[in-house]
Amino acid sequence: MSTVALKDVTKIFKDGTVAVDSINLDVNDGEFMVLLGPSGCGKSTVLRMIAGLEDPTQGAVLLDGELANDLPPRDRKIAMVFQDFALYPHMTVGDNIAFPLRLSGVEPAPRGERVSDVASALGIGDVLARKPGQLSGGQRQRVAMGRAIVRRPGLFLMDEPLSNLDSGLRAELRAEISGLTRELGVTTVYVTHDQAEALTMADRVAIMRRGVLQDVGTPTQVYGRPATLYVAAFLGSPRMNLLEASVYVHLDRYVTLNLGEQSLYLPWNDIRSRAVAHYHGERIVVGMRAEALTPVSPDSPGDVLHGRIRYLEHHGHESLAFLDIGATAIMVDEMGAPLDPPPVGQRGLRRLGSVMQRLTGKPVEP
Ligand code: ATP
Repeated sequence: MSTVALKDVTKIFKDGTVAVDSINLDVNDGEFMVLLGPSGCGKSTVLRMIAGLEDPTQGAVLLDGELANDLPPRDRKIAMVFQDFALYPHMTVGDNIAFPLRLSGVEPAPRGERVSDVASALGIGDVLARKPGQLSGGQRQRVAMGRAIVRRPGLFLMDEPLSNLDSGLRAELRAEISGLTRELGVTTVYVTHDQAEALTMADRVAIMRRGVLQDVGTPTQVYGRPATLYVAAFLGSPRMNLLEASVYVHLDRYVTLNLGEQSLYLPWNDIRSRAVAHYHGERIVVGMRAEALTPVSPDSPGDVLHGRIRYLEHHGHESLAFLDIGATAIMVDEMGAPLDPPPVGQRGLRRLGSVMQRLTGKPVEP
């Protein structure tokens, strides 16, 4: 069993840089937690504080419920994997994986057995006699993983372990890593700036910006109901459409969202009405994912937004339409479009948002 809890953890470096600002985060036993955010947002510093490689300036790091602020790294039952692998070039793959076991005095026979178990789980059983220089990048990464796993740590800490690999291998290894850690039941904290990695691998994602934790939740939660505008704009490709709107609740029980040059009328029994009704009289930001907007003919009845297609972008499995709806441009996934849509022209948009958000505030740039 292995859990991590960060309580109001702050890290201020000597030069005054606030790398981590009052973070609270719980990682459950066996959970795969991904720390996601742009470069410099403090992810690695959080990981290094969990590992004991940096001391928090304030706050508490708890491992298995015990205060660990003063626990040396070697007593934390953790294994770390970094992007630069750090294998011993003069040792064979087998000796590299066996190294931590040798250090802790495991006898040769059980040592060999553990190494071959781990190597076959990682699909590198046939390269045990080679040196790291004779391996591909992906194989080297698996050896680094193997060396981390072999001691059966309670907690895995991984800092961008796939960032030096090409995209095909990255996709393959991310499935392997998350599969393997789940199989082993090891609690994992995984740092990345790659949202595809975060959304595909994580049980829960913690999104950081400038040292501050913005949102924590399952991939579906943070994608579908982001807690802040920053998260709404940061997650997803294409980016979420964010439109400013004024909310008016009408006494005869419907809600108008005034989007500038056009308005949407939402009946009272529409769950989207209730989501925004208590912002009556206020300006809010409404978030709509491209895939939540369905193109329809411009004269369709109901809550239809009207736009003029500026251009279409074809991506093979989908096409994105970029539309002007008054002063604002938005993107729409054209998957649901009628056959042979005209390349440009008027278009209605319907089904505004199973993912419509009630995000207050101004749109922010990530
Ligand atoms: P990346 O993805 O680029 O590794 P990150 O999100 O992991 O970024 P950190 O490495 O945790 O970010 O750095 C957070 C902030 O703290 C950055 O502004 C960085 O420049 C700063 N920082 C990191 N280490 C130190 C240090 N030893 N002294 C001063 N500032 C530091």
